[in-house]
Amino acid sequence: MMARALMGMAAALALATTVPVMPAHAGEKAQGALPAPLHAQLDAQYDRVIADLIRITETPAPPFKEAERAALFAQMLRDAGLDDVSIDAEGNVLALRPGREDGPVFVVSAHLDTVFPEGTPITVTREGERLLAPGIGDDSLGLASLLVWARLLEANGLTTRQPLLFVGTVGEEGAGDLRGVRYLFTKGAYAGRIGAFLSVDNADAGRIVNAAVGSRRYRLAFKGPGGHSYGAFGIVNPMGAMAEAVRGIHAIAVPTEPKTTYAATVVAGGTSVNAIPDLVTLDVDMRSGDPAALGQLENAVLAAAAAGVAAENGARSTAAGTVTLDPQLIGDRPAGKTPPDHPLVASAMRASHAAGFAARLDQSSTDSNIPMSLGIPALTIGTGAGGGRTHSLEEYLETGRERFVAGLSVGLAIILDHAEAAPK
Ligand SMILES: [Zn+2]
Repeated sequence: MMARALMGMAAALALATTVPVMPAHAGEKAQGALPAPLHAQLDAQYDRVIADLIRITETPAPPFKEAERAALFAQMLRDAGLDDVSIDAEGNVLALRPGREDGPVFVVSAHLDTVFPEGTPITVTREGERLLAPGIGDDSLGLASLLVWARLLEANGLTTRQPLLFVGTVGEEGAGDLRGVRYLFTKGAYAGRIGAFLSVDNADAGRIVNAAVGSRRYRLAFKGPGGHSYGAFGIVNPMGAMAEAVRGIHAIAVPTEPKTTYAATVVAGGTSVNAIPDLVTLDVDMRSGDPAALGQLENAVLAAAAAGVAAENGARSTAAGTVTLDPQLIGDRPAGKTPPDHPLVASAMRASHAAGFAARLDQSSTDSNIPMSLGIPALTIGTGAGGGRTHSLEEYLETGRERFVAGLSVGLAIILDHAEAAPK
C-alpha cells in the first residue's frame, strides 16, 4: 500500500503498460540497463530507501538473536505489497511473489544478522554523503534493496516467469555457519524447489561473487589423565600432543590455485601452573574454493592431530591413562561455483557494467555457498554506492544519490532479466 500511495495508483497503472521491460531472451537483450522509467522511479524512492536503511540498521540483529529485525523486515515486506509473508522455523523471513508459471522459485535474498553482540550501541550518524553505523552495509543495505525492488515490481504490476521468493536469512555471519540458508535449501518449505539464488550482500555493485570459498573449522580437544606437575611428572600431557599437532599441521603443503589455507587460531586449556592439564583445545580454520582440496586438507589436519597424540603417548608414561583426540566440527561452509558462462552471471555482468560499475567476478564465503555447493545457480552481488570498515564499529556507506541509485538498479535489472519480467 505504501508503494502505491507513494507513486499514485494511476501512475502505476499507466506505467504498467508503458514500461519497456526487456524482452526475454530476445537476441540483443539491451545492454542490461534498467529501463529509464524504472530508473526514474528508483531515483524517486531514494529518500524512502535511506529511511528504511536507517530503521533496519537501528533494529539490532546480533548472532542467533535476529527475531526483532526479522519481525520488522516481515512487516516491511507486507508494506511493500507482498501478501504471502512468513517466518520459518529457523527464523528466516520469506515472502513469495507468484510467477506466471508455477515452476522453481528464484530466491532474492539478504541476511538479517550482524556480527555485533547484543548491547552494541547502534545509531546511524551522517558525515556529508556518508552514513555510519555498525552493520549498515552488511547487510541492512541488502535488506533495504530487496524492499525497494519489491515495491517497484508491485507498483508497476510487473510479473515474472518464475515465482520470486524474497528472503531475509539468519545466521550468515561467523558462528551462524549459514544456518538460515542451509535450512532454506535442505529443510524448509521450498527445499528442492529453488531454481536460482541471488544474494545481495556488499556495497560494491561491480563485485559479482560466482565462486564460494568453502571452509571447515574444527575444535580439536586433546584429553589426558592430568595430574600434579611435580608429583605426576612423566605422565602424558595433552599440551605436548597439541604442540606436535600444530607442528604437523603447519608442515602441510597446500595448492596455491585455488587458494587453499589453514591456520591454528585459538588455544585453550589448563587449570593451574602446577597441574598437568587434562584438556587442551585447539581451533583450526581451513579454506579452499575447491571441495576436493578442502577435503584433502581436512584429512591431513586430522592425521597430523592423530600423529601428535600418538607421539605424546609414545614419549611419556600412559600408566595413568592415554591422551585421546576428540575432533569437533564447529564450522562447515561448502565450496562451489556458478560457471562464468551461466546466463545468471552474464545477466549480472551486463547489468553492473550498464550501470557504470567495473563489473568483475570474485570469490567469497556468503549465503551462496550452500546453493553453489548443491549445483544450483547462485550469485552474491553488491548494491548501493560503496562503503567500508565492514565488521567494525566504524562501518560506513556512501550514499551520494546518483551513484547509490545506479548501484540499486543493478539487482533489479538482474531480476527483470533473469526472471523474464513482463507487464501483467
Ligand atoms: Zn554480509
